[in-house]
Amino acid sequence: MHVEVDVPQCVASGQCVLIAPEVFDQREEDGMVVLLDDSPPPEHHVAVRESALVCPAAAIRVSEP
Ligand code: SF4
Repeated sequence: MHVEVDVPQCVASGQCVLIAPEVFDQREEDGMVVLLDDSPPPEHHVAVRESALVCPAAAIRVSEP
């Protein structure tokens, strides 16, 4: 799994951080998403897919081989 985030598109809602805190964080100053791991291990894949689905800005892109 490969993960990308579109930071300018992020609206700092924080859902991804609640769902997958091992993969996503938020900047202290403005709440914008920070990608912690662009190749997360399998145990986080379900949470990452869920984050991409619920992100209100569609700012998370997941590609899987
Ligand atoms: S769920 Fe989407 S809009 Fe919300 S912080 Fe994460 S990337 Fe940004």
